[in-house]
Amino acid sequence: MGGYIEPAPIADKENPFESMMSRFKIASELLGLDDEIYNVLKNPAKQVLVSLPITMDDGSIKVFEGYRVIHSNILGPSKGGVRFDPGVNLDEVKALAAWMTWKCAVVDIPYGGGKGGVCCNPREMSAGEIERLMRSYTQSMIEIFGPDRDIPAPDMGTGPREMAWLMDTYSRSQGMTVHSVVTGKPLVMGGSLGRTEATGRGVMVSAMTAMEKLKINPYQAKVAVQGFGNVGSWAAKLMEERGCSIVAVSDISGAYYNANGIDINKAIAYRDNNKGSMEGFTGAEKISGDELLLLEVDVLIPAAKEDVITISNVDKIKAKLIVEGANGPTSAKADNIINDKGIMVAPDILANAGGVTVSYFEWVQNRLGYKWTKERVNRRSDRIMKDAFENVYKVALEYNVSMRIAAYIVAIDKVSKTYKYRGGY
Ligand code: GLU
Repeated sequence: MGGYIEPAPIADKENPFESMMSRFKIASELLGLDDEIYNVLKNPAKQVLVSLPITMDDGSIKVFEGYRVIHSNILGPSKGGVRFDPGVNLDEVKALAAWMTWKCAVVDIPYGGGKGGVCCNPREMSAGEIERLMRSYTQSMIEIFGPDRDIPAPDMGTGPREMAWLMDTYSRSQGMTVHSVVTGKPLVMGGSLGRTEATGRGVMVSAMTAMEKLKINPYQAKVAVQGFGNVGSWAAKLMEERGCSIVAVSDISGAYYNANGIDINKAIAYRDNNKGSMEGFTGAEKISGDELLLLEVDVLIPAAKEDVITISNVDKIKAKLIVEGANGPTSAKADNIINDKGIMVAPDILANAGGVTVSYFEWVQNRLGYKWTKERVNRRSDRIMKDAFENVYKVALEYNVSMRIAAYIVAIDKVSKTYKYRGGY
């Protein structure tokens, strides 16, 4: 299952699509993008909205709303996860789809961007209800999905189990097994070694590379991780293995702080034996989720959801480096204050791109009908993440902008040049 999430503060919650657009605008102006291309990239290529009537376990019928937004297929088939969460709405899915376009371009993999979601609360649903919902959602998207059209993957609230149902439903409709229609599948049915930890691993590579630039010694680095789902816990574990001290982690139950460092393997084992929740964890002192963000640490890793660093708390953030494991954890309005404070941000479209990178490897392996070793997956994804970081860092220096705007510049430049070559009518 995807990560358990920290509720976002709602006080000054921004519309995530507007947050995405304001960065896009800044980068487009710096690039001197012409109005026509700006308009092409501003509008999602396709937006699909479906009603999904599901028979619940008690025999009642409940109607869920499902979305798939394809922001762009200029670089290749659209790629992006499917989110099952009560907060899903069209604006969120549109922003997340656009972020996928930029993310794939930043790490230079041949995909466009898409995202899907169903407004539901999987924590309150039985496995059978979730299965019917996923199969019904897939059936509604049969014309949209396809190994060369649009390739879904896990996101918040979904994981390998849901991808197995998606792949099976799609395959039945085609009368043959189609592994490459979806990534993030269970290992036994065409999943890739290294995919589970891929996003967290990429966050770790980004954090270690950024620490090198900032001359932060990992052995003296204190790290706080907001969100202890798949991304946050893997990032924490891999950074701990490289000498960092993870002083705080959090999930929906609250935050847990230990000045001497939390034993991450113990925390993961505790969570896994406690129905995925950190509630009652005794290896640390309990603090509030908001306090975690404001701790005196070297590295802050928001790995839950959008809009957790906003104008209401950004002033009080003390970290020297923010590595965005989540998509859109910093609102656009907070960007300037972060820059003024001299905090380096490894932005979402760079820092969490390890997941889609290994999704790409999974798709490649499926198409080859061949399996790579974990060493090969990790070596190649680490190289891609490191090269992407160095490239964005170079562009940030060249344009004298933040790493975030630099990442948008890299992405928009690539997509707009490709659009020009492909042409239109
Ligand atoms: N949902 C993940 C993301 O936001 C992975 C997407 C994918 O692998 O296609 O990057």
